[in-house]
Amino acid sequence: MKTQIPETYQLVETRLQEHMPDGTTRCNLCLWRCRLRHGQRGFCQTHVNRNGTLYNLSYGILSAIDVGPIEDKPVRHFRPGSRVMSVGSYGCNFRCGGCHNLEISWGVEALDELARGQSHAAYVTPAQLVEAAQQHGAEGIAFTYSEPAVWLEYVLDVAQLARACGLYTVYVSNSFVTDEALELIAPHIDVLCSDVKSMQDSFYAEICGKATVEQVLASIEKAHKLGIHVETRTNIIPGKNDNVDTYRRIAEWIREHLGADSPWHITRFFPAYKLENLPMTPAESMWQARDIAEQVGLSRVYVYDDKGCDCADSNLPVAEYLDADSVAIHKQKQCAASCCGESGVLIKKYERDAG
Ligand code: SF4
Ligand code: SF4
Repeated sequence: MKTQIPETYQLVETRLQEHMPDGTTRCNLCLWRCRLRHGQRGFCQTHVNRNGTLYNLSYGILSAIDVGPIEDKPVRHFRPGSRVMSVGSYGCNFRCGGCHNLEISWGVEALDELARGQSHAAYVTPAQLVEAAQQHGAEGIAFTYSEPAVWLEYVLDVAQLARACGLYTVYVSNSFVTDEALELIAPHIDVLCSDVKSMQDSFYAEICGKATVEQVLASIEKAHKLGIHVETRTNIIPGKNDNVDTYRRIAEWIREHLGADSPWHITRFFPAYKLENLPMTPAESMWQARDIAEQVGLSRVYVYDDKGCDCADSNLPVAEYLDADSVAIHKQKQCAASCCGESGVLIKKYERDAG
């Protein structure tokens, strides 16, 4: 499907959607595969059903932006030494207890404001973003801070333009994504940096309710088979996934399915949100994981005792990076299609009608 790139904010049709026999429309971007009725929003809060068609509320909406080394994603075996512009929007398909990005990843307030036509969040076209990356000396663009699958319409448009302009792209993911979404992005994305959070289904059940280890690992392997350069990352959380058996099983899986030279990044947990009561990961746990991975045969294992999530909390305001005035970027967002009438209220009245 060829889409037209909007110059101003508007709802954009969800790229993977399917009408179901029961009258719902199913979103096939991530493995939630939300089945939505008129007025309902998906688990991620980012996609909404309006009169049977699904739309992405967050196309072009940026929550955060930053420029830094690709190694910070973390990615070490693709264009080392280059700088990458990282961007994220609002909404995620997980609800991790230790997430450091809550106002971005869950993004409930920001997405509600968009739905009400009252948001002042930054709107940046793909062309503006690519230009900003080039102006700031970045050689690539990374989609990160929350799950890019819930923002795939924008990711696709930016990635295609970025490649045409000689920039690479990095997709930082939890890999709870569909095969269809991976097939759609694979021709346009250079690198997948994916979490392997645990080898226990119970861990994933706590943060998502639906995800299983098998699903996540199958998506990572699929990306690898599709030719995307894959690097994996595990954030070691005391009492949750810090055991020898987990380290060994993750390392063995990487060796068997991605190759012994596939990079594995081990990061430190810093207490946050529901896991505020847990301690920071002791350095010994991370080095123990590294030792086990090396015994198993992995040759590229990296330990970061200063690094956790690829978080966005210290970034500059979005407008600082763009060659446009802040007022224009932050003007009130009302869908340019204006099919909701002059009020600009996009969703709420439908939510009331949806019953
Ligand atoms: S992206 Fe995932 S969570 Fe969001 S509506 Fe689609 S299937 Fe649901
Ligand atoms: S930690 Fe990552 S996957 Fe989990 S809720 Fe936060 S952004 Fe989403």
